[in-house]
Amino acid sequence: MKNNKFYITTPIYYVNGDPHIGHAYTTIAADIIARFNRMLGKDTFLLTGSDEHGEKIMQAAAIDNMDPQAFVDKNSAKFEITWDNLNISNDNFIRTTSKNHKLAVQKSLQKLFDKGLIYKGEHNGLYCIGCEQYKTEKDLVDGLCSDHQKKPIEVKEDCYMFKLSVFRNIIKNKIETDELQIKPEDKKNEVLSFLNEGLKDISFSRKIKWGVELPWDTTQTAYVWPDAFLNYITGLDWNGEDKAPPMWPAEVQLMSKDIIRVHATIWIAILLGLELPLPKKLFVHGFFLVNGQKMSKSVGNVITPDDLLKNYGTDGTRYLLASATPFGHDGDISMDKFDLKYNADLANGIGNLVARSISLTKKMKDAGIKLSTNSFATNNSNQDTWGDQIFQHEIHSAWEDYKKNLDDLQLDLSIRVVQEQISFLDNYITTVKPWELIRDNNPKTGEVIYNILERIRHIALMMLPFIPETADKILSAISLDPEQEKQKGWETFTKWGGLLTDAEIKESAILFPRK
Ligand SMILES: [Zn+2]
Repeated sequence: MKNNKFYITTPIYYVNGDPHIGHAYTTIAADIIARFNRMLGKDTFLLTGSDEHGEKIMQAAAIDNMDPQAFVDKNSAKFEITWDNLNISNDNFIRTTSKNHKLAVQKSLQKLFDKGLIYKGEHNGLYCIGCEQYKTEKDLVDGLCSDHQKKPIEVKEDCYMFKLSVFRNIIKNKIETDELQIKPEDKKNEVLSFLNEGLKDISFSRKIKWGVELPWDTTQTAYVWPDAFLNYITGLDWNGEDKAPPMWPAEVQLMSKDIIRVHATIWIAILLGLELPLPKKLFVHGFFLVNGQKMSKSVGNVITPDDLLKNYGTDGTRYLLASATPFGHDGDISMDKFDLKYNADLANGIGNLVARSISLTKKMKDAGIKLSTNSFATNNSNQDTWGDQIFQHEIHSAWEDYKKNLDDLQLDLSIRVVQEQISFLDNYITTVKPWELIRDNNPKTGEVIYNILERIRHIALMMLPFIPETADKILSAISLDPEQEKQKGWETFTKWGGLLTDAEIKESAILFPRK
């Protein structure tokens, strides 16, 4: 199982508000990568969840006149509902207020304390409540937190410190040698130059009530980092024992750029301190701008996951977000751009292609012609006008490109491979004019239509991680059971010829109505 497992995580999201598009983007991307790895036959686990402790939650709950637990119950349910609406196939949804998580955090902190990696100290610092983070003067712009435009407050309190500083060289080495990969490359360099400035010990506890109590001093609770980061293992039902669960370490941990530094330092140091294996890869994806501006309530340009779901449905939303920007880089989005792309790629693209192909099949059947692959066997000339051999070779190399791109987490590039397949088939139909072949009762007709439908099968399977419901509908329309198709295994379903010649072709409803 060891070589054939794939564990991928999203960050857990802080549930002091509603899910936003950034959360949706990370989670959809993780889901696409997870579904792809399941198609490869890997034992795959996708984890997401909610981060539920801390001062901001306490404050937000107080404003709503709610008990913090009731408040996080309500808000984390909103995230779970959104992930259901987006058809996210997560294997667990970890909540940091769950009993097992809290116990594992306590055991882990006790272990670090017993090893002398946590010591009593005092923290003096500038603290931004919005970020739940101490700030250095360098982090501030004109004395204000650049994310929240607020002046941080001065905090001086007893706390327990984590000896982060002792891990600097080992972490640096592991990143430099790619034992711990950070992607894209510019983010790796950013983390390395940050490490070159040295690491300071950091506070691991706070004197607030809403958190995980320190086992040796119940007047303090765990600070956000040990509490939130350990979710990546407690989400696998780890209870704090010495040995990590078999699914750990993660092959990929996805995140946005604002949290890569803390992951690459604090999270990694916690694992080193607990003598647990490190994740293989931290992957940083980009941010969205709307028409060149940062999304914000005051500008009034916020696009929510619900806005997208309402406009484009589950698969439309998944597709538009996944293809909006080169994965790993920032991108500009707008509802106008989404409308254009939806019409071009989904309504006029795959949707029209499937409808066109099925209607040709119906015409063929009405003319009493059957699907056939016979002339492939009897006539192996690869100079054939309709390119049987070229077809097979070409689809094979498309699958290779597709797989390579998804293995490298280049979601947008793998989508491009599928789009090329769609254009190719559209051109094929326009060139070969099957309606004339049907009219003329041409002996090649059954084979040409077979070629078209077989290519549709490949396109549907390639689209499966991105738009799973639509892919299932297309496979069902060409008489294939989506589950059985996946069960056949990668080597089999990516080969030419999976469509049966006696397949009953059903008309399907319009996949993507035009905007
Ligand atoms: Zn802030």
